[in-house]
Amino acid sequence: MADLRNCSKCGRLFGYMGKPICSYCAEEEEDDFKKVKEYLYDYPGSTVFEVSDATDVEVEKIMRFLKEERLQVSSENPNMLLECEKCSRPINMGRFCQNCKNDLHASMRKEFGLDKKPTPPEDDYKLKTNAKEQMFTATRRK
Ligand SMILES: [Zn+2]
Ligand SMILES: [Zn+2]
Repeated sequence: MADLRNCSKCGRLFGYMGKPICSYCAEEEEDDFKKVKEYLYDYPGSTVFEVSDATDVEVEKIMRFLKEERLQVSSENPNMLLECEKCSRPINMGRFCQNCKNDLHASMRKEFGLDKKPTPPEDDYKLKTNAKEQMFTATRRK
């Protein structure tokens, strides 16, 4: 059974497949994406505005392609850079710079206890006590 929705772009009713837009608009977007990609391949130093002018694809859309990491600007291109959403450093794709990505990754690993660094013996005891204390507070909170 199809989950029918209205396309967020053209309003047409379509069978929902995990994207908020219908297949017509998805195809159109794919075309736009290809145009932008090809243009950047030929003119790797272009600005977003030049690309937009030459391909008829809106600037916002090009920026979205970049943020979705579907499009990558060559790192030598100083004209088309995004800003890291955490530290505002210029980046060439995605939402965060490599530094912040590493940070995010590290804190995520910590949270899930994936860090398997061997602990020096003197810290081991402290860690264990901490864990016990944490467990104690956790049970007390219930
Ligand atoms: Zn549509
Ligand atoms: Zn950053």
